[in-house]
Amino acid sequence: MKKNILLKTIISIILVTLLVGIISIGTNKVTANDQYKINEKNLEIPIFLYHHIVDNKSEIEYDYMQTSKDTFEKQITGLENSGYHFISYDDLIQYKEGKKTLYKKSAVLTFDDGYEDVYKNAYPILKKYNIPFTMFIITDYMGTNTYMTWDEAKDVQNSGLGIIASHSQNHEDFSKLSVEQAVENVNNSYKTIEENLGNQKIKIFAYPYGLYGEGQSEALEKEGYIVDLTDNKINKSKDLNVYGLHRCYPLNDSVFKMKLKIIYRSIRY
Ligand SMILES: [Zn+2]
Repeated sequence: MKKNILLKTIISIILVTLLVGIISIGTNKVTANDQYKINEKNLEIPIFLYHHIVDNKSEIEYDYMQTSKDTFEKQITGLENSGYHFISYDDLIQYKEGKKTLYKKSAVLTFDDGYEDVYKNAYPILKKYNIPFTMFIITDYMGTNTYMTWDEAKDVQNSGLGIIASHSQNHEDFSKLSVEQAVENVNNSYKTIEENLGNQKIKIFAYPYGLYGEGQSEALEKEGYIVDLTDNKINKSKDLNVYGLHRCYPLNDSVFKMKLKIIYRSIRY
């Protein structure tokens, strides 16, 4: 009998939490002045990760790495309409250092691997809405096959909206590399980036496949890199770690589903 009451209480709490979450998704519009310094409020700061942004919708459901151009545009405009502001890594770091305030609803946009379809399909949309973003490129693959060229990367950088960052030299599984090999790989990739695009103000790295070995993030932090994971979790400002930033996949989710997932993952992790 007692067990039953406990179970009912737990179910009620879960239902109320979900209901409050759903209501807040619909009604929580944020005003322009709603900005906070770090420690003022515990903000949830999702970093969204995309791979391909494709034209052809029919390919979508078979490939977890693709988002259609139309869905992508709906996702970013939908988030903006519900109060989200897209920020850059620079904004995030300055916020972490106490030099900048952030909107209550802030998010970061990233694209992994450096596919040319991102340049062709997502980049015009990002320019249209003036949205900052970061592309994590595989330096050895640039200009080959389906990957962006260095000229296109230069164009992205010159727009002032896009940052070109490292996703390693060759997309190796970093969990199989020693700490020294990991650092060397990222250093070499940034050497190539700077040879092609000039000096970079901040250096950001995202692990290929989201895999890494012990001690690598700490070693990369010492080298001055901002480090990104791919773990489908949401960053929270109270324990914001710029050497282990969480990223999540929006894929082809509706804006409503994206917001539900933010709430769910914030509660869960
Ligand atoms: Zn990748």
